[in-house]
Amino acid sequence: MKGAVRDFRLHDASGSQLFSLIVNRDSLLFYFRPPAVRSGRFSLRDLERSFEEVRENNSGEWTVRITNLESARRLWAYIVAMSEFLSGDGDTTQIGYVNSNNQRCQGHRGYPGNDHLQKAYRMECLNEDCGNTYGANGSDVFQRKCPRCQGGAPGIEF
Ligand SMILES: [Zn+2]
Repeated sequence: MKGAVRDFRLHDASGSQLFSLIVNRDSLLFYFRPPAVRSGRFSLRDLERSFEEVRENNSGEWTVRITNLESARRLWAYIVAMSEFLSGDGDTTQIGYVNSNNQRCQGHRGYPGNDHLQKAYRMECLNEDCGNTYGANGSDVFQRKCPRCQGGAPGIEF
């Protein structure tokens, strides 16, 4: 960690620091800071699927080691994509809401669901060994079951 270490920070509208970045000689270590982790907007599972070295540290931060430009671009694209999701109006369609089946709402991008006047939400199964992501109508979020590990209905486009 000695040497040319620079530190950079990104904040959300309320001033919370969401991310930081440590520049090492051969790689970058990108941090999802606790406000980003707690937001429910991002997923450790998503990161583990896309990057080789992903860790959760004792401070409740997630770290992603970036070793080349391609992975830096991929990480930034993920953050931008997830930032496009919006919470719904109700309590059970807020980003980060987790229903009694351990399914987390990650918001919608304005795409219609397949039920009357519904929007399609991105859902993430938080069950260990699953981590499935799928789409669900907003009206179903509060009781949705995972299509992969709980026998829930097939996911919809989101
Ligand atoms: Zn599942």
